[in-house]
Amino acid sequence: TAQEIDRLEKLQVLGHGNGGTVYKVRHKTTQAIYALKVVHGDSDATVRRQIFREMDILRRTDSPFVVRCHGIFEKPAGDIAILMEYMDSGTLDTLLKNNATFSEPTLAKIALQVLNGLNYLHAHKIVHRDIKPSNLLVNQKMEVKISDFGVSKIMCRTLDPCNSYVGTCAYMSPERFDPDTYGVNYNGYAGDIWSLGLTLLELYMGHFPFLPAGQRPDWATLMCAICFGEPPSSPEEASEEFRSFVECCLQKESSKRWTVSELLLHPFVSMGRRSEE
Ligand code: ADP
Ligand code: MG
Repeated sequence: TAQEIDRLEKLQVLGHGNGGTVYKVRHKTTQAIYALKVVHGDSDATVRRQIFREMDILRRTDSPFVVRCHGIFEKPAGDIAILMEYMDSGTLDTLLKNNATFSEPTLAKIALQVLNGLNYLHAHKIVHRDIKPSNLLVNQKMEVKISDFGVSKIMCRTLDPCNSYVGTCAYMSPERFDPDTYGVNYNGYAGDIWSLGLTLLELYMGHFPFLPAGQRPDWATLMCAICFGEPPSSPEEASEEFRSFVECCLQKESSKRWTVSELLLHPFVSMGRRSEE
């Protein structure tokens, strides 16, 4: 309710995004800490569409691998706020920028959790479409959860290819640019797998795999590299299991890419399960 939101005290800004701001907040009565994503009523139509999409999806999801939503507030002025569980280690992107290095057992645990999240989403006919380090939240327990559903899609009977050009282009799969060449049996789900493969490789290498370290992405070069180049491969020193896992994700032809259920049985992911015990 509207009164509830007045019980929330803003502590700090956690992140800015396209049109919205995410705050760390404390509930004045319970002292509980949350994250609050706020989009103002006067923001443009695209931003509003995205927040409505995100609300719609967060209302439907209930998984330990997807960020939890504790409430949605709509103010008369048109402001919208989403109350979420607070993830106290930020995102995989913040960890990467703070020079964290990710060992293979850690990467295996990350892969397992993101796959569990994607397994849940895909089973509920939700394609995320923007999997990347800054949309994967982490807490002290090293739990990893999928967030930011602004450009996600709930699949119905048919695909609308016109609406498929969303997400962060750097992590977009070849068939999203060029469905005729790389999208036999194009269904959308495989795009999330490509982005997962790229994300894991980035965490391993410490920089975005399609570009040399330190180089700023330029849209056209990147799109050419993704569509016409070979998919990036893992460094030589990586284990056979890791290299194979990344290769299964980074198949250019979307129908050759492994699905979530197949990847959950991959030997690299089993490493993630073993280290959980
Ligand atoms: P955008 O669509 O603007 O990218 P996000 O939902 O990805 O919005 O949030 C932007 C940033 O805010 C994230 O990259 C992250 O740093 C921070 N953030 C978002 N949700 C949470 C949360 N639940 N806990 C902690 N930090 C969060
Ligand atoms: Mg984001």
